[in-house]
Amino acid sequence: MEVSETIQCPFCGQSFDLTVDTTVSSQRFTTDCEVCCRPFEVAAECEPGAILSLDVLGS
Ligand SMILES: [Zn+2]
Repeated sequence: MEVSETIQCPFCGQSFDLTVDTTVSSQRFTTDCEVCCRPFEVAAECEPGAILSLDVLGS
């Protein structure tokens, strides 16, 4: 079950939609900014069908 959430890039400050697999309750992954293409790490807490929290991790 995938849910989209808006996230803000820590480099350029642009917001874009990120799709998260909510069947994984606690996860960390790296995503590329859709605007400036720089990679950053994201931590997500989920329950099936819902994103409980989505945090950009500082590098
Ligand atoms: Zn960016």
